Amino acid sequence: MLASGADPAEPHPADDDSDGLLSADPLPAERQGEAALRPRTLGEFVGQSELKGHLDVLLGAARNRREPVDHLLFAGPPGLGKTTLAHIVATELGAHLQATSGPALERAGDLAAMLTKLEPGDVLFIDEIHRLPRPVEEVLYPAMEDFRIDIVLGKGPAARSIPLDLASFTLVGATTRTGLITGPLRDRFGLVARLDFYTDDDLVSIVERTARILGVPIDAAGAAEIARRARGTPRIANRLLRQVRDFAQVHRDGGVDAGVAADGLAFFGVDELGLDRATRAVLEALCRSFGGGPVGLSTLAIAVSEPTETVEDVYEPYLIQRGLLMRTPRGRVATPAAWAHLGLQAPLSDPEAQPGLFT
Ligand code: ADP
Repeated sequence: MLASGADPAEPHPADDDSDGLLSADPLPAERQGEAALRPRTLGEFVGQSELKGHLDVLLGAARNRREPVDHLLFAGPPGLGKTTLAHIVATELGAHLQATSGPALERAGDLAAMLTKLEPGDVLFIDEIHRLPRPVEEVLYPAMEDFRIDIVLGKGPAARSIPLDLASFTLVGATTRTGLITGPLRDRFGLVARLDFYTDDDLVSIVERTARILGVPIDAAGAAEIARRARGTPRIANRLLRQVRDFAQVHRDGGVDAGVAADGLAFFGVDELGLDRATRAVLEALCRSFGGGPVGLSTLAIAVSEPTETVEDVYEPYLIQRGLLMRTPRGRVATPAAWAHLGLQAPLSDPEAQPGLFT
């Protein structure tokens, strides 16, 4: 169901997501803007209080001992603040941050070049660490454990391995998939932390903070309306605020209250629960094409023309959190709340198909 003000028959600016406008991944232009919006200290970082408490202790103790802090792994859906936390760790330690990502490190030599550049105390941030090729990951083990890598010279029986000492450093890994992190890599992190979706109150604080930085006039009800529809994700909250700001400047007088926020969000295809068109398409396919499931992930992904990884990492976590979709051993299943949200009638369950339920 669309929020008030949008005509479903009208061509819609959000119909085509070929530029990734709707996903929780940063858009190219957004990447630069994000740097200005990033909280720089733990104190400025909103929410995730348990994790902040743990980090505060780890960073404080490391500072007192003048040692690098243990390696840290942050896991959770995109846009929840993993990269921001990596930068905060470096800032709080007064250290430099070197950033790279799993897919960028194709060969063992790429990682070795990165590691040998590090100065004592540096923070090395590896985004999407679950996508490191296995031979590269194996270089990381002795580097994390003993600040050492083994350079292999030559090939075959004549090959020799020469150990090379590295500066002591802290590795911060980020992943959307803890399930894909191998045991040996996971065991080498001193802290493995899962970031949760943010509460509406935390998202209101984030929207108000971003509005202050961007100079957007917004009242409390306007911030609450954006926060409520931000799918628990700071990156989406910031994006929705920018879209509503643009809508307010073009179609209204520039100020954002609850009404302007609701109209702006409807204009950009965000519904009452905060589902955008791409996320809603997953639910629609599940209910309309597969009778509510169970249906396998890959079939569902083909039905919405998305990679399985995107459906699993980007769209599903929030649908599950809102109680709209379930992952079961037999496949994905729509809940009664999903049928109700789409304004569709759930099919009557077939007693023949579910022996045991009615005995
Ligand atoms: P991830 O690395 O998990 O994909 P990022 O760290 O890049 O997410 O965060 C995305 C955006 O959301 C950043 O621009 C940042 O400003 C904002 N953000 C994330 N977490 C918070 C937070 N706890 N408080 C305020 N802003 C946040």
